[in-house]
Amino acid sequence: MSGPVTVVGREKGYEVSIRSDRAVLSDYTRAMEAFIDTNEYRRLRAETNRCKGCDICCRERAPLTAVDLWILKENAEKGLDWRSFFQRFVTVRVFSGGVDIVLARDGDDNCVFLDSGRGLCGMYPYRPLVCSTYICAQASPSAQLFRSSVVNGGEDAAVGLWYAQTAEEGLVVHECEDFDPGLLEIPPENVWNVSKNYDNILIREVISGELWKRLEGKP
Ligand code: SF4
Repeated sequence: MSGPVTVVGREKGYEVSIRSDRAVLSDYTRAMEAFIDTNEYRRLRAETNRCKGCDICCRERAPLTAVDLWILKENAEKGLDWRSFFQRFVTVRVFSGGVDIVLARDGDDNCVFLDSGRGLCGMYPYRPLVCSTYICAQASPSAQLFRSSVVNGGEDAAVGLWYAQTAEEGLVVHECEDFDPGLLEIPPENVWNVSKNYDNILIREVISGELWKRLEGKP
């Protein structure tokens, strides 16, 4: 399969390959989606052999990027202001090591967007990056590093967005571990802060040069 980003199964785990300087993060999510649909990989979880109807990963921690926040806010409920959005659909934990911004859970500890009766995502077209790029199959070391690099970069920007949108009327914080939110250090702006979708974030701009070389044009 060709495209700006390709994902192929290998003996030691799936491999991500970038074939264009202009590749953007939505090329990556599309390539992962196409790979997941092939079902041609060995799953690490014995409980399931297909994604549809399986909700195991929807009960795990799901960190959000700044772009995820924009997309979810726009689509979770029309007309919602930022404070209400953070209060209802997101969990913000503040601790001495930083800020953790993740999808909120319901009373059964499932993702707040999960239709648990059917095991389906209620926000599927708008699901976060961490969801759309996950498959319970072995990934190569460079594919793992790629996914964690983009998610981590986007998480830092999410902290900046949370601060910018809620600080004025009092930060929305769900859990705080013996720490004064007023002492927070907010990460500086980066390329993530200027985009509201994944169509215009160039992969080259959000990963290191070394990782780019490892991913570039792999067979
Ligand atoms: S957003 Fe959708 S795919 Fe992601 S954890 Fe929630 S229900 Fe699962």
